[in-house]
Amino acid sequence: MVTSLDDAPNPAYICPYDMACSNLERAAQVLKLDAGIVTFLSVPRRVLTVAVPVRLDDGTLRIFAGHRVQHSNILGPYKGGTRFHPAVTLREISGLAMLMTWKCALLGIPYGGAKGGIAVDPRRLSLGELERLTRRYTTELIRDIGPQIDIPAPDVGTSSREMAWMMDTYSMSVGHAVPGVVTGKPLSIGGSKGRDLATGRGVLITVREALASLNLALAGATVAIQGFGKVGAAAALLLRQSGARVVAVSDGSGGITDPHGLDVEQLIEFTRAGGRLVNFGGAKPISNAELLTLPCDVLVPAALENQITEHNAHAIRARLVIEGANAPTTLEADHILEERGIIVLPDILANAGGVVVSYLEWVQGLSYLFWDEDKVNQELEKLMVEAYRRVERQTKALGLPWRLAAYTLAVGRVAEAFMHRGLYP
Ligand code: NAD
Repeated sequence: MVTSLDDAPNPAYICPYDMACSNLERAAQVLKLDAGIVTFLSVPRRVLTVAVPVRLDDGTLRIFAGHRVQHSNILGPYKGGTRFHPAVTLREISGLAMLMTWKCALLGIPYGGAKGGIAVDPRRLSLGELERLTRRYTTELIRDIGPQIDIPAPDVGTSSREMAWMMDTYSMSVGHAVPGVVTGKPLSIGGSKGRDLATGRGVLITVREALASLNLALAGATVAIQGFGKVGAAAALLLRQSGARVVAVSDGSGGITDPHGLDVEQLIEFTRAGGRLVNFGGAKPISNAELLTLPCDVLVPAALENQITEHNAHAIRARLVIEGANAPTTLEADHILEERGIIVLPDILANAGGVVVSYLEWVQGLSYLFWDEDKVNQELEKLMVEAYRRVERQTKALGLPWRLAAYTLAVGRVAEAFMHRGLYP
């Protein structure tokens, strides 16, 4: 169903949907799940593609393709980010939606999985065009989202600004303020303290725990981070503040490296002012490909999918790969890294900090009671560490790589809930 609508433009690109289905099948074999349940879980429940017409500032009318894929609501409302990126396809979004189902199940939070996106380069639109695009997209989804139905959040190319427009559009349509329709909102309209750094904080917790499992200290550990957006920059900042040495970072323009450690605060100021990392003086420029193969303790891919592949996995020189991004490592690369003894902490665990604090934001909004940042961070810490320990135990108990161990826990939880609920009617 999903395959016929579009295909990935680059033949070498391995779609997150195919990766997620393969991992589902591998987990199902370990769990000895019924084939019918596996088929049921591999197909999204609802797939929506909408035309999003926007009047550009020069008066021309342009139509963008918007998608929202609702993979599963067995455990609770659909939940997942909204991506604005030119390479967005329905198939990619379907895979990312499935990853959300496993992520929420693994973390034990009462959500299903979804994802949305528009094939657009947001940097090429004016602020007004972007607002009209976001509001029209929200209007097209209006009957399919809601605090108990499907709750969007930011992802690549979107932020609290777009979430505010989505919340306002939805609220205007129903006639009253509905903060719970999205998460990752500004604080002034019901956002949660700590949400902006939450995914990065989850990455920090995962790096810390994974190093501790190897009897290594976070202080002084060397870290290379690909992607310097909401996830990568926050992870870089928090890792540096915790004593790690951030030796390389990159964005879409390329990267920079300094074996003595980069001044992350200065880099954040530089990029916030519109600078691209490749233009930052004072550190050695490197390509994104070079960053991935630098010698370091920890590599954090935090940009897009398909970054660690069969072509570069042999050259990775980190001891640990902590997936800040969704689906950055292909299946072939997974096997190569495993053979080489490099541990990969999978996306559905390592970057779950964002959806955890999204859940805490939603809970605060529904209870009309807002917490201070310490409380949010404590809850995040608790949920992340518990999930890490569950996966670690499963890895040891079943002798599985971390990704497969995480999938067996997540898929097992969703399958169990499905069996209890039964198939309607
Ligand atoms: P973002 O748009 O804030 O940042 C993306 C960053 O990646 C930018 O610095 C961009 O320049 C860079 N980039 C783009 N193409 C690149 C390339 N080819 N090589 C290197 N860098 C490149 O997005 P984000 O929210 O930080 O999301 C990054 C990843 O983390 C995505 O896979 C996303 O799905 C995942 N994720 C995000 C969240 C969240 O809360 N935002 C939560 C979980 C997972």
